[in-house]
Amino acid sequence: MTKTVHHWIGGKPVEGASDRWGPVADPATGLVAARVALASADEVDAAVAAAKDAYATWGTSSLAQRTAVLFRFRALLDAHRDEIAALVTAEHGKVHSDALGEVARGLEIVELACGITTQLKGELSTQVSNRVDVASIRRPLGVVAGISPFNFPAMVPMWMFPLAIACGNTFVLKPSEKDPSPSLRLAELLAEAGLPDGVFNVVQGDREAVEALLAHPDVAAVSFVGSTPVARHVHATATAHGKRVQALGGAKNHMLVLPDADLDAAADAAVSAAYGSAGERCMAVSAVVAVGAVGDALVAGIRERAERIKVGPGSDPASEMGPLITAAHRDKVASYVTGAAAEGCEVVLDGTGHVVEGHEGGFWMGPSLLDRVPPTARAYREEIFGPVLCVLRAETYEEGIALINASPYGNGTAIFTRDGGAARRFQLEVEAGMVGVNVPIPVPVGYHSFGGWKDSLFGDHHVYGDDGVRFYTRGKVVTTRWPDPSEAPDGVDLGFPRNH
Ligand code: NAD
Repeated sequence: MTKTVHHWIGGKPVEGASDRWGPVADPATGLVAARVALASADEVDAAVAAAKDAYATWGTSSLAQRTAVLFRFRALLDAHRDEIAALVTAEHGKVHSDALGEVARGLEIVELACGITTQLKGELSTQVSNRVDVASIRRPLGVVAGISPFNFPAMVPMWMFPLAIACGNTFVLKPSEKDPSPSLRLAELLAEAGLPDGVFNVVQGDREAVEALLAHPDVAAVSFVGSTPVARHVHATATAHGKRVQALGGAKNHMLVLPDADLDAAADAAVSAAYGSAGERCMAVSAVVAVGAVGDALVAGIRERAERIKVGPGSDPASEMGPLITAAHRDKVASYVTGAAAEGCEVVLDGTGHVVEGHEGGFWMGPSLLDRVPPTARAYREEIFGPVLCVLRAETYEEGIALINASPYGNGTAIFTRDGGAARRFQLEVEAGMVGVNVPIPVPVGYHSFGGWKDSLFGDHHVYGDDGVRFYTRGKVVTTRWPDPSEAPDGVDLGFPRNH
């Protein structure tokens, strides 16, 4: 064991004091490479206190001061893309090119936050009544917390903190304990960019730290991204403690392929979206619904492409798909494939038991493909979060969309077709928050918000974009009257104010 991962509180690294530690493995070797401090409620309290102190000045700092820090942070992040991506690969396992993509999509939100001057412009109505003006302005909330999942250890925190601090809040991040290092590097770069101490803090930890944040009286709002059961719990608990909450949960993203689709393009898209990052993406396509006669040709196309995927360590430029996050998760993912035939699925590709030479201890699994999956099968009903693609067959568009809309999840979805009318109908009828038309992973750009429906999001606000600004601020309306000193005062009037 070579490394210890600590907290970042009040602008500097702080040693863990709870004497509770979690293992951080290199998923490509299976070896424990570091241990991470798991915060106690007292350590969470110290981070919140540092953020509260910093809010006293950051909350009233000028937009010019905030954007100056963000522009410098943007430049530093750009210069350190490779290094942060390497940290992601070392602890998460995804291939370096994919980790670079995650950093790029985080950077996009930093750039959005650099433009906060435009987004925080209020509204003014003059002369709404005699000598009366009305202004709508937005003010920061105070200390806000972010709790992030293992699968995007750099990007998901950047979905949250750039806009939160741009809006004048201070921030406490609780990253996933499985890959805790990238967030500490982001904290160092923020400090180098000139962010005042205490504006951004990191508490490493597990459930204990999360519970402390959810109940903390000085935390005004919580942004959570993770699995559905935890998202539901975070939303219920933090709202019961009077906080504003956005809690993004799990997914089962469907891709509907109509008979007129370009089958090669659809097969390429299905393979990229199902097996990229070993399926550990909340926007991964995990279910393809093949409509009409396309099923056999589509499954053949997916199989042929999936068989060619090179599985290997994320640090090897030849690898296309890395390992899974832990041995326990790999075994759980494998259980969906081993149990599939007994539930009526046709196992076209079985990726269980995959071995990578020279890396025998890694948490490997190859691409798996299940065809003719009945909607009752466990592999279809549950989020697998691994490289397992289910193909379902439907006779018609109506049957296909009914299947999608019956899912408890509603994160992303996609339709592949050449028929504009069908695509338009799908956009309106499908019950999901993010829709792709011939785009398999429709993650919105930074200036359009990201979020799902149903069990994929608890709360009213999606993340980043306009919703992000709304989430991290609250509205205030100021009604102003400057009487004309040359006129006599109005005198007492007990009637309800009317405009005239
Ligand atoms: P997770 O729910 O296990 O963990 C997420 C965070 O919650 C971590 O910081 C973890 O420490 C904490 N946590 C875990 N169990 C907890 C508990 N019982 N009480 C309180 N806190 C707890 O999720 P994960 O395995 O890290 O990430 C994968 C999941 O995240 C998948 O379900 C995926 O779909 C989802 N995800 C969703 C989105 C989205 O935008 N909707 C994005 C990325 C990941």
